[in-house]
Amino acid sequence: MGPVCPICMVVQNERVRYAFWFFAEAANEPETIGALRASRCFCAEHTRLVLADERSAKVLPRLVLECLVAVGADFESAFTTAPSPCPACASEALVARRALKALRDGLDAQTGRSATPTDPLCPKHLRALLLSADRRSALRLARRGGSHFRSTDRVQTVLRLAIGADPDRLYRADMRKQIDPDFLNQPRSPGVLERLLSDLKVCSCLACLAGTRAEFRYLEWMRAQDDERVLAEEVAPLCPPHLNDVALIAPSVAAVVAEAIANHVTAELDTVAARLAVLPSRSPLSRLRWIRRLQRESVGRSPIGVDLALGSERLVGGLMRSERDLFRQATDPVSHARGCSACSVRDDAEMGEVNLVLAATRSSIVALRYGESHGLCLRHVLGVPEACQEKFIRDEMTARIGLLVWQLREVERQRRWSARHELAEDVRSVLSAALALLNDRTFLGAPPPCR
Ligand SMILES: [Zn+2]
Ligand SMILES: [Zn+2]
Ligand SMILES: [Zn+2]
Ligand SMILES: [Zn+2]
Repeated sequence: MGPVCPICMVVQNERVRYAFWFFAEAANEPETIGALRASRCFCAEHTRLVLADERSAKVLPRLVLECLVAVGADFESAFTTAPSPCPACASEALVARRALKALRDGLDAQTGRSATPTDPLCPKHLRALLLSADRRSALRLARRGGSHFRSTDRVQTVLRLAIGADPDRLYRADMRKQIDPDFLNQPRSPGVLERLLSDLKVCSCLACLAGTRAEFRYLEWMRAQDDERVLAEEVAPLCPPHLNDVALIAPSVAAVVAEAIANHVTAELDTVAARLAVLPSRSPLSRLRWIRRLQRESVGRSPIGVDLALGSERLVGGLMRSERDLFRQATDPVSHARGCSACSVRDDAEMGEVNLVLAATRSSIVALRYGESHGLCLRHVLGVPEACQEKFIRDEMTARIGLLVWQLREVERQRRWSARHELAEDVRSVLSAALALLNDRTFLGAPPPCR
């Protein structure tokens, strides 16, 4: 086993602990039900993890029923209030914050030149630690904390860190195999309306399906891409899940991207270290000297203070700037780290598809087909204001919720002793349909496996 970021490890332990606690005692507690109603069930990743446990067929139908009843009963407020974070994500974020604080306190208390974390941190947690450390520790961290991104085995380190940050990767790899390969093998893409009408026959949210296809095509394009410069400059940095997805289909491409990620991180750290090294101390005299120095030097070359060095008004502004402001300026490249290119390809495709559905359903023929199909999932209807305001889409969603609420109640009824003579419905298929209605990303945009 290679390096695993200690914070990611804490998060993974919390994931196991949360699942244990959820099935052993929390699933029937009013607090859990309340939290899941407010978040409209678990996020897609946590739903996948919960579904992998056999006990989910017993406890999830009731919780999903509660979530759907809550949305269905007050659709008006569901689309004006954003859902709260998934409770499993929230508990992981809390332990990550605590672990980072412990690491930061230890780092701030350490003195001496070698005082940096000994375990390699993943880029995300290294950035979080750097942004929350005090100035002296941040400088040390920027200079030496990313040493594993400079070492000779940095490619392997980045890939191992990505595996440690993505416990969902094997579920995803299994599920990806079920996603419509026919579409990807089509020799030529059909016309927009033709494609939309044929997609309406697939039992999946149109936007989730479009996002997954775009993700797929992007991964395939990456696999075929032999220009390393394009991969390094345009594709990287990928988030851990997408880096793992690439590593599964094209290890050589993943190696080029991992190298570029290491270079991105070290370049960021070098910039931050250079900026932090020239920051003045708290005293006004030191700040004045610093600003004067910037004025004397070529302004364009000085790392920060371009605005500070211009004119007396700004000079006073520079003197008045709080310690935190200066720190924020110095660590700016880290806080503005570029997002994952594959995530943005997927998100753009999802948004584009919602807009296409809104435009196309104005035609009565498409609207009729939409009414007979799976349509959009709740996440996409409530997540796009235009979709929420469209009465037709909202009415369709309310009707679907109503039907699923009835089915889930029926599942509950059939579990009673008095209904033992009846032919019981397949719990898994009703549950899958309900989860797909809430958020089709649970099945990566593919039809739920139980259909
Ligand atoms: Zn980490
Ligand atoms: Zn979650
Ligand atoms: Zn969707
Ligand atoms: Zn991504």
